[in-house]
Amino acid sequence: MAVVGIGPGAIEDMTIKAYNTILTADVIVGYKTYLHLLQPILQQQEVVGTGMTKEVERCQKALELAASGKKVAVVSSGDPGVYGMAGLILELAAEQKLLEEIDISIVPGVTAANAGAAVLGAPLMHDLSIISLSDLLTPWELILKRLEAAAASDFVLVLYNPKSHKRVEQILKAQEIVMKYRSGDTPVGVVKNALRAGEEMWISDLQSFTALPIDMFTVVIIGNSQTKVQAGRMITPRGYTW
Ligand code: SAH
Repeated sequence: MAVVGIGPGAIEDMTIKAYNTILTADVIVGYKTYLHLLQPILQQQEVVGTGMTKEVERCQKALELAASGKKVAVVSSGDPGVYGMAGLILELAAEQKLLEEIDISIVPGVTAANAGAAVLGAPLMHDLSIISLSDLLTPWELILKRLEAAAASDFVLVLYNPKSHKRVEQILKAQEIVMKYRSGDTPVGVVKNALRAGEEMWISDLQSFTALPIDMFTVVIIGNSQTKVQAGRMITPRGYTW
């Protein structure tokens, strides 16, 4: 069984290993919105799709199929080990003592931070901190603590799950915290649907980026104190001189 990173956009963004794993699987298990990305390469594989909030059910089903002898590929968008399915699969398998029985490999993919960074220029050239603003599975107090620590330590910040229809305040709070440590003109890159159809990007700054149409298909990259915008590209210097 393999937990495979696909996308984040088209087939061409996945690694050759991910591609081959999908091609040779008997069953593909995944969130239905992402399964359509695979349509062009699917042949005889059985496809099991479930909705967004059915993660545990989906992983359990995948383990059962694998235990029955099928070659299963669980697909996750971006990297399966970054807010993806890899951890849950391993936890469930370990708890059910299935790890000796089922060989589970994790096939990495291009995470949204990398995809977004590539669209913006080179904003992740220095130490970075990835923080999800979703408080569905993480207490909001802990998210605030991490935002504060990362902002104070001058990490480049990458915000996942930045804003949804229901969750609109979190991004404003994040902005307020970072403003305590960085100037209002710190570059902020916002990328929606990075490397996917409908890709959009904006290079803004810390004091104004929250006015942009940020949603759950968006990744936000807040520069560190050295990040600059040059010729329309967001760049965090590594420190080379010439
Ligand atoms: N496993 C995924 C992350 C899942 S969390 C990965 O490694 O990328 C979901 C969040 O990731 C979204 O709310 C968004 O913030 C970000 N994201 C995923 N794909 C994206 C894309 N193509 N463009 C911009 N942001 C994306």
